[in-house]
Amino acid sequence: MQRAGRKLLNADKLTVPCGRPVVLKERCKGCRLCVEYCPKQVLEMSKDFNEKGYHYPQLKQGQEKDCINCGYCQEVCPDFAIYVEKVTS
Ligand code: SF4
Ligand code: SF4
Repeated sequence: MQRAGRKLLNADKLTVPCGRPVVLKERCKGCRLCVEYCPKQVLEMSKDFNEKGYHYPQLKQGQEKDCINCGYCQEVCPDFAIYVEKVTS
């Protein structure tokens, strides 16, 4: 006999957090830590250079709603060059 799957009683009320990463590109030294640590892989290195001559991260096109506001990118950045804002809908 097959057992019925369990379902959270409030599953219809749960929402996925959404964030928007903000890059202070002139502070960036292009180390890529934020890109590598992002669990949703929504960041990529820009083809453009900042004033110091480094590529800096940017949000991938088409993935503007996929950031989950986990804050890993700002935690790992050694130069405080990226932070994330909570998006409320
Ligand atoms: S907050 Fe999390 S999901 Fe969003 S860009 Fe930073 S590391 Fe990625
Ligand atoms: S972790 Fe910081 S310094 Fe390194 S690429 Fe990302 S924004 Fe730039």
